[in-house]
Amino acid sequence: MLNDAFGRQIDYLRVSVTDRCNLRCLYCSSKDQFAWLPPEEILTYEELLRVIRIGLRLGIRKIRLTGGEPLVRKGLLDFIARVSRLEGLKDLSLTTNGILLAEMAGALKEAGLRRVNISLDTLRPERYARLCGRPYLEKVLQGIEAALKAGLHPVKINTVVMKGQNDDELEDLARLTLKAPLEVRFIEFMPVGEGAPWQKEAFLSAREIKERLLSLGDLKPTSSIGAGPAKTYAFPGAPGKIGFITAMSEHFCERCNRLRLTPEGKLRPCLFSDQEFDLKPLLRSHAGDEALAEAFFSALALKPASRFKTRIPRRLMRSIGG
Ligand code: SAM
Repeated sequence: MLNDAFGRQIDYLRVSVTDRCNLRCLYCSSKDQFAWLPPEEILTYEELLRVIRIGLRLGIRKIRLTGGEPLVRKGLLDFIARVSRLEGLKDLSLTTNGILLAEMAGALKEAGLRRVNISLDTLRPERYARLCGRPYLEKVLQGIEAALKAGLHPVKINTVVMKGQNDDELEDLARLTLKAPLEVRFIEFMPVGEGAPWQKEAFLSAREIKERLLSLGDLKPTSSIGAGPAKTYAFPGAPGKIGFITAMSEHFCERCNRLRLTPEGKLRPCLFSDQEFDLKPLLRSHAGDEALAEAFFSALALKPASRFKTRIPRRLMRSIGG
């Protein structure tokens, strides 16, 4: 079992299937503007399946596919179908910007995907185009509808809150939970990526966000499916939920149960630490399963007790796998 030196049991692997994306978001931009990895650097589906299979053998139970934008990688449906059949898997989810969901949601569900998290920072078309670099808000809204219709339950909306950029829309985004069984999760803006435009002044804490939402009604605590990092609440009678992810104001490192796999095959034990363990040399030199299993433990040994022992991570979310 993947237990670390600090008593945490690791059962969750976030797998980034590509660094490519069909958006150009503000927080994923930097000086080295959108230089993608050469395709041969990215793990093949066979290599990914092998790593996941070994992870499952060691106690991983939940897999989340992410990127970049995972839905832009060709062959993803077939890959999902293969992952979904692996022994030991309890949950298979995907994080997406939602742009391709309107056309893919039904097929994703059929392939064996359980649920989706959809990133959405604004409901205003012009603002979306400015923050995300492409005018695709309508497609995302259609994608959310399609995910609900396909039964990719629960559908969670991830909103990164940035003061002066989208904090005047908190109530509008929260109102989505009054109409549909969506879980709208407000995420504190984090300093991720060298050269990324993170500013202290743009930070708004979950406590402040929650206070602002009280203008819409009382928020009662609720339990959430998946025991993730979000604290969840609901307005009286609402079909949906509100979540807060307090990665900055109140970190949840002591409950951290995850490892990340970057698109080029590095096991990354902590989002905020640049220490990674490279699996690709093992995968491409035909190392045996035991050597790969050992590599999981080597990566685990690099997992810090708390992210406060780390610095701002060098890589951007899109290259780590957000
Ligand atoms: N393309 C997929 C998507 O849009 O959800 C997956 C990758 S994207 C990098 C994952 C998430 O990271 C998005 O929800 C994005 O908002 C979030 N993210 C990126 N930079 C961030 C930052 N500095 N602070 C908080 N969240 C961030």
